[in-house]
Amino acid sequence: MLIRSSTPEALRQNNSLSVLSALRRQGALAHTDLCAQTGLASATVSAITAILERDGVIERLEQKPAGGRGRPRVLFQPKRDCGYLAAVRISSDQVQYSLVDYAGRLIDRFEEPRLGGDGATQAFGQSFLAALARLAERSRLARDQVLAISISSKGIVDPGAARLVWSPVFGGAALDFSALLGAVWPARVLLANESLLVAQAIAAQREGQGHIPAIAALSLGHSIGLGLARRDRHGEWEVSAPNFGHMQHVAGGSLCRCGSQGCVEAYAGFYAVLRTAFQVPPQTIPAKFVPIAEIDKIAAQARAGHRMAIYAFRQAGQSLGAGLARMMSLFGSMPVAVTGPGLRFFGLMQEGLLEAFAETHEGRLNGVPLILPMTGEDELVFEGHVTRALAEMDVMLATGQGGGAP
Ligand SMILES: [Zn+2]
Repeated sequence: MLIRSSTPEALRQNNSLSVLSALRRQGALAHTDLCAQTGLASATVSAITAILERDGVIERLEQKPAGGRGRPRVLFQPKRDCGYLAAVRISSDQVQYSLVDYAGRLIDRFEEPRLGGDGATQAFGQSFLAALARLAERSRLARDQVLAISISSKGIVDPGAARLVWSPVFGGAALDFSALLGAVWPARVLLANESLLVAQAIAAQREGQGHIPAIAALSLGHSIGLGLARRDRHGEWEVSAPNFGHMQHVAGGSLCRCGSQGCVEAYAGFYAVLRTAFQVPPQTIPAKFVPIAEIDKIAAQARAGHRMAIYAFRQAGQSLGAGLARMMSLFGSMPVAVTGPGLRFFGLMQEGLLEAFAETHEGRLNGVPLILPMTGEDELVFEGHVTRALAEMDVMLATGQGGGAP
């Protein structure tokens, strides 16, 4: 991340950001390693670390030399209490609140049931504000010590604003988190699609493992999510979450939860698998929520050779394969990490997915993509929150918008 300007002040801010980003990647670094990592001159690094230390953004750590002789090695690291992040994950049935310090360590976490029915945004807003206040109070933090509030949900996010435009939870009742939080919290408010955070976390994990130009994260469950991480021309990850689940698979096809017909999700979401397995007419209004135990039963039937159960998963795989081929026709071929609660059924979908992909022009030209099953979606979402929000906090602190020391 760079501040693209060339005034002396912007240059100093850029150098500060280079130092903070290097510490973010490595955790703690000595002066010489900081020079090597940032490419900055020794005197420049000294000046910057002195300012960041004075402002309470970084701190010194003295490391005893091996064998206990000689002078201790001095390392710099982000100062834990320099600022805090509140990370909030909104799921269909609950909301998880986490508090993270500036060094990226989890300090506190609790879950609450999501209040209000579908579309009940006002009740949700009130419980959201109360829970955030509780999160700060439990750790005895003043509100201005929380520098960023990072929120994730499934659905469509307005990238320029912290506005949830459409979500499976609230439907078309848009939620403007900047407006909701702005009056009471001075923090930077960030909102991201959940699959975007997963893609961000996976991309960050692969940072040191050779050059991968792009990777997709496909989340399987009641809804279907897709996150994309692609390197921009500066070599930095650019992440996005195209509306993959509601991309059209079949014109005039099965009824989707979004109200449209023939979406990928209307064939591959849990409710779609249920509908097909029980031969319910495809225009039947989708179930609001299908317990995973129901899909487990269908999976057991499929594994026992039950024809409709096999077909239900196969059809789900085919819609995903065709959708991925369309996505890669636009963005180029890339590996696909598969996550989400539906990962345990992926074995039943994979053949249909690969077959449908192979039949497309994209498949015939470039072959089928590398598929990487990845467990632990919850941790990936959390890692995505932390990676994204702490990078944002680094920019705030480097440019003096973060308030500095408490
Ligand atoms: Zn849809």
